[in-house]
Parts: sequence; C-alpha cells; structure tokens
Amino acid sequence: MKAFAAFVVLLLLAPFALPAFYLTLLNYIGLYSLVALGLLLLTGVGGLTSFGQAAFVGIGAYTTAALSTGVIELPAALAWTQHSPWIALLAGLLLTFVVAITLGSMTLRLSGHYLPLGTIAWGISLYYFFGTFEQLGGQTGMSGIPAIEIFGHPLVTARAMYYLIWAFVLVAALTTQNLLDSRQGRAIRALRGGVVMAEAMGVDTAGSRMLIFVIASLQASASGWLYAHLQRFVNPSPFSLQYGIDYLFMAVVGGAGQVWGALLGATVITVCKQWLQDLLPQLLGRTGNFEMIVFGGLLILLLQRSRDGLWGLVARAAARWLPKISKARSVPQALALPRRDMPQRGELVLEAKNVTRRFGGLVANNDLSLKVHAGEILALIGPNGAGKSTMFNQLSGVDTPTSGQVLLRGQSVAGRGSRAIARLGLSRSFQHVRLLPGMSVLENVAIGAHLRGKSSVFSAAWRLDRADEARLLADAAHQVERVGLQEHLFAEAGSLALGQQRTLEIARALASDPCVLLLDEPAAGLRLREKKALGELLSKLRAEGMAILLVEHDMDFVMGLVDRVVVMDFGQKITEGLPHEVQQNPAVLEAYLGGVAP
Ligand code: ADP
Ligand code: MG
Repeated sequence: MKAFAAFVVLLLLAPFALPAFYLTLLNYIGLYSLVALGLLLLTGVGGLTSFGQAAFVGIGAYTTAALSTGVIELPAALAWTQHSPWIALLAGLLLTFVVAITLGSMTLRLSGHYLPLGTIAWGISLYYFFGTFEQLGGQTGMSGIPAIEIFGHPLVTARAMYYLIWAFVLVAALTTQNLLDSRQGRAIRALRGGVVMAEAMGVDTAGSRMLIFVIASLQASASGWLYAHLQRFVNPSPFSLQYGIDYLFMAVVGGAGQVWGALLGATVITVCKQWLQDLLPQLLGRTGNFEMIVFGGLLILLLQRSRDGLWGLVARAAARWLPKISKARSVPQALALPRRDMPQRGELVLEAKNVTRRFGGLVANNDLSLKVHAGEILALIGPNGAGKSTMFNQLSGVDTPTSGQVLLRGQSVAGRGSRAIARLGLSRSFQHVRLLPGMSVLENVAIGAHLRGKSSVFSAAWRLDRADEARLLADAAHQVERVGLQEHLFAEAGSLALGQQRTLEIARALASDPCVLLLDEPAAGLRLREKKALGELLSKLRAEGMAILLVEHDMDFVMGLVDRVVVMDFGQKITEGLPHEVQQNPAVLEAYLGGVAP
C-alpha cells in the first residue's frame, strides 16, 4: 500500500519534472498499460492467449471518432448525444461488450492453439474493417476529433491528457488487483489448474473465461478512446496485428500474472523501442527498422532467463537484496459460514446403479452398483487399471456413464456435470493432485469454498466483498487446521511435500461443506505418521456423519479403517463385504495375487 501511494505521488509530480517529450512517452505508456492490464487477467492469470487486443483498442477509438466528429449521423432523437466524447466512450464500451460476447462465445471454447489462431483471425478482420469503410476514412483515417471536456475544460495539452490517462490506469490497476484477491479472482486463477478441478470446486469455467475476456476487451476499448482524443486523429495502423503482438509481449515480458508486471512491461517495451530506434541508426550509420531485430533477440533472451518476466526478476532480486519485511499475516475472525443440512446417519447418500462406461471397445466400468451411507467409509479397491478412477469420474460428474444411474441424496445426477453435483454436496480429491502451486495453501483451500460465497465481480473489484471474503477465508483456515496443515497456511502449495499436497486436497474438498467425500488414493506418498493422522481424520469425519468413498492401494491402511469394501477387477465388481470377509475371498486373492493362493 505504501509502495502504491509513493507511485501515485510520483505520477502526480512527473509532469512538473519531466520535459514534454517524456510526458508524451508517459501518455503512451499509460495507454499501453491499460491494454496490458487486461491481458494480464486474460493471458497471465487465465491462461488464454490473445493476439487480437489491438482490434478492441480500434473499436474504442473508431467509435468515438465516428460519433464525436459527427461522421456517422445519429437519428434526430439521439442527436443530442452527438459530439460528446463521454457518450461516445459509453457507446464504444457497449459496442465492445457486444463484439466481445459474440467473438468470445465463438472462440473461447477453442482449446490449445486454436484460441490464439482465432484471436489472430478476428484481429485481422477488424483491422481491415476499419480500413475499408469509406465513411471511416479508409486507410487515410479521420481527423478533427474534438478534445475531451471535463467541467467545460477541454483537455488539449499532453499534460491534461496525462492525468486523465493515468487516472484510468490507476483505477484499472487497483480494481484488477482487488479482483485477483477475491473469491471471483480465485475462480479465475483456478482456470490454470484445469477445467476438471475448477468445475469440481463449483467454478463456472466458461463464465470465468468470458468474464476476463470481456474485462480485457473493455480496458482495451477505453485505451482506444483515450488514444483517439490524445491524437485527435485515427487511422487503422495502430490497430493492426503487429500491435496486438506488442501488447501481448508487454504483458508477458512484464510478468504475466502481476499487476505491477503489466505496468513494467508496457514501460520497458515502450522505452526500449524508442531508445533503440534512436540509438541504433546512429551506431550503424544507416536508417532502418533495426530496433525490431534487436528487440526480438532481447525478448527471446528474457523469456529464456525468466519465465515469469521482468517482474519475476525484480521480485527475486528484491527477495535477495532487500531486508525481509515479515508481513504479519493472519486470517480475520469472522462469522462462521452457514452449513448445509446433513443427512441422518445411516441415510443412503450416494448410489450407483448398474453404471457402465465404455471407451470404444474397452469397458472400463461394467454394470457396477454401489451404495454409500452417511457415517460410513466404503473402500473401492482393485488392481491397477480395474476402473476405480473411471468410477470416481462417473460419480462426480467429470464423465457421463454410457448407461446406468447415479443418485445423490435421491436425485439422479448422471450427466449433470460436476458443478451441479458439487452444489448438491459431493466433493472430491484427485489421484494426481490438481492444485495451484503458486498460490498459498489457504487460497487453494478457499477455492473449495467457492460455492459458499456470494460476492460478485463488481463488489470484489471495489472491495465491497470484505465481509463475505473474511468468512470464506476463516472457513478455509479452519479446514487447513482440521487436516493438520496449519503450519503451512501461507506457504505456497507447490512447496509442500506430495503427501501434504494430497492432504491439502482433502481440506479443499472439505471447504465445500460436503455430505459425501470421494478420495482417490489419499494415502499415496504419505509417511507412516501422516497415514495415521489421515486415518484419524477420516474416522473423525465419519463420526460426524460424513459419507466417504475411498480408493486406496494400501491394504493395511484400508483394512484397519473402513466399514465395507467393494472389490473390482476388469471394470466389474467381484465382491463386496466387510474388510475381513473380502480378505479371505478367493476371487480377491486371485485378482491381487494372480491366482497364487497363500
Ligand atoms: P484404476 O483407477 O482402477 O487404476 P482407471 O479407471 O484409471 O483404473 O482405468 C480403467 C481402464 O480404463 C484402464 O484400462 C484405462 O486405460 C481406461 N481408461 C480410463 N480413462 C480412459 C479414457 N478417457 N479413454 C480411454 N480409456 C480410458
Ligand atoms: Mg486410479
């Protein structure tokens, strides 16, 4: 916060200390920062790569150019809005919103390299759109754009525009920072952990992707509006794919994922380009676009040295050279979150009826039925490849059975998707841990509580969500304590041992206040002492009335703990019963030992 205040003071004073040339440079840095901040959310945090942001800058710029110069005549009823840059800003944002929703619903579902290609495609077509229309001035562009007026004062000088531009940047930086540090922000960051994990925690991943895409587009559009009124002239060239690539570089070079990184990236790239452009022709004694060549080389070098960009380098240097500021971190006290109505002990909570799942010719689950009651632990065991994880996926909605039914508290849930199932009270861990290694243990667990919070994006951006947020974090901290990881509350999840990461996943599952827990090999990688602690935790949860379904390899662990066992092999149930019964069963011995009876 102190650093932020110092930054604001520097910004306020800069115009009085700097010559005009640098002021202009700062104006451009501000405009680029606004776009880079959007990309920070979209690409750095959300992992969606867009080369097309320049086109949204263009929409903002051209909308205001067309409306405020009167090139596009509005119908008489709307004539009063003509020539007002502020109304043109709203119109530009609205148009951007519509275009972003349309393009987003077409392209955001694309995965892998299709999404970046999609953004290139729309970037190119919008660019040519600006250049082709006679009314928009074609390649020559449009001039005579009026200055923005604030309370009757026209912002004609670079200095006047400077304050407006940087006010936009600061608001965008602050709201982005706030958003990232909230329930909605965690949902966005969860996108990096994969769709399966995020949806299992109740995150609407399609909605989160659309949200960051729209925010990034609106910020780009606002930058275009400012640009048009700074230049008082627009033509298509600043909205080309080349600029789309530059914006992406700014976000990535600065340090994708950090608000300060976006500002740093925009600054460094703008200044470097300017500097190389002046210096290189002098050095080489010839004119030409040498800066682009050197620049490309520098970028490759940087990306190779620091995957998390310049901000990563700065942060590491600061950690090494500056005295450690030990932040007094604590979790705020807060009212407990409401709990769901738990089923009565012994009530049937989860039931699979004749579930079959085929993958082509392979029948991974064959006509499998099982029941889990409140207050019991059921183990699902079987050799590798028996189909246990596949069964978990059918039960938790990650996958849909080819045939058969899954009933959760009496409701048929097969095919309803993991988000709906999570809402009904089923929560799970994964055989291969899926957490966000760069986020703290506390925040990872808080993702599990996503569905128990209510705060909207808007309230998060403006810090109106603090009461709701405090309750979520307090609950998450309680779950961390419950599984015995309280010493690591603020540690990065990725720094934990594998066994602890599995335990973290249990805490995350508990944070959703489930009535049934599905744990896929929770004891794998745990030390003996940790296994004992896990056994005690599961016994305690059972005593509280939780229904638990457990896949586990470790027979000693399973046999001493669980109430009943279902044994499967080749996708089928071979037997079911009490632990000591199945241990004696010849079919089980055969499955496990390949027919060599002891
Ligand atoms: P387990 O967890 O019991 O070790 P799995 O459920 O992971 O076993 O796998 C059961 C079988 O189903 C294996 O033969 C596996 O290769 C196959 N299988 C699992 N998922 C898929 C999939 N998505 N596509 C094709 N085959 C799969
Ligand atoms: Mg498995």
